[in-house]
Amino acid sequence: MHVADIFARGATTMSFEFFPPRNNAGWETLYRSIAEFEPLGPSFVSVTYGAGGTTRDNTHALVVRLRRETSLEPVPHLTCFGHTKDEIRAILERYALSDVTTVLALRGDPPKGARLLAPGDFPHAADLVRFIKREGERLGVNGGRGFGIGVAGFPEGHPETPNTLEQLDHLKAKCDEGADYIVTQLFFDNHAFHDWRARCELGGIRVPIIAGIMPVTSAGGLKRMADLAAGTRFPAPLLKAIQRCRGNAEAIESAGIHWATEQCRDLLDHDVAGIHFYTLNKTDATKRIYKSLGVRAE
Ligand code: FAD
Repeated sequence: MHVADIFARGATTMSFEFFPPRNNAGWETLYRSIAEFEPLGPSFVSVTYGAGGTTRDNTHALVVRLRRETSLEPVPHLTCFGHTKDEIRAILERYALSDVTTVLALRGDPPKGARLLAPGDFPHAADLVRFIKREGERLGVNGGRGFGIGVAGFPEGHPETPNTLEQLDHLKAKCDEGADYIVTQLFFDNHAFHDWRARCELGGIRVPIIAGIMPVTSAGGLKRMADLAAGTRFPAPLLKAIQRCRGNAEAIESAGIHWATEQCRDLLDHDVAGIHFYTLNKTDATKRIYKSLGVRAE
């Protein structure tokens, strides 16, 4: 199904993100999680690419398995940094053959310590979006409409572009090239999201914007998130709630899940187009939030 048709139904989308694990135990956990997530009926699930040192072929293998063996709508992430056009074309051809019809188009980042690596044939994600659009139409994906395409958005800014007006222009360029929707970087401050969404609208961005949510489930996780999502603000009330737990792991998890649940409730109250859960392949936190919201994806 074309992702635009999922949005056209009008209901808030609910989606989950997985990453391809690095070892057998990780794969077993992931398959158990997928079996638990499937009955929740998400609008789609996405699979990261190249993140965490996993091989890129694992993204393809997982996406194809999701397509063949589950009722879930799989959306592979595809990063273009360091890739040639021929390589990206080959990946898209394999997806088209496997009936994978939506892709999240990203630039990606150079591996740490390799800043001087050549960026490849696609300097920016907008170049990748243009290419995916054209290739999808050539391959007859989605009955000739081409791939559905998602792109990344950064409510609290992307570290490489301090000029926030310029950043909106770059986001708009991805939409003008054919992106069907935006998924945001994780955030904890809904005011930042609401204000950024209003600025997107003023900037002429009309595609659905899906909010990326990742609950804090441990003190270590909080530190990793700060590193992973540079520039993300951790509001003082969230940090106070965690501090009150005095290091108790169970209490920190509950406080983090409570915060994320309240974020989602507020987003739903403000007619968000969709909520995307960064699950880290675990079900517990996401299921608790999802169930408290009383929602079910269409
Ligand atoms: P772009 O849109 O190309 O933007 C990157 C930077 O370049 C921005 O600062 C932008 O303002 C600037 N820019 C854009 N166009 C121009 C231009 N014409 N001139 C000058 N500057 C320009 N990474 C992975 O490796 N694997 C994943 O699976 C993955 N999944 C992600 C999912 C989501 C929802 C998000 C939010 C991020 C994900 N990332 C992933 C991380 C992402 O690849 C990085 O954050 C990357 O730095 C930005 O990617 P982008 O697609 O937004 O790039």
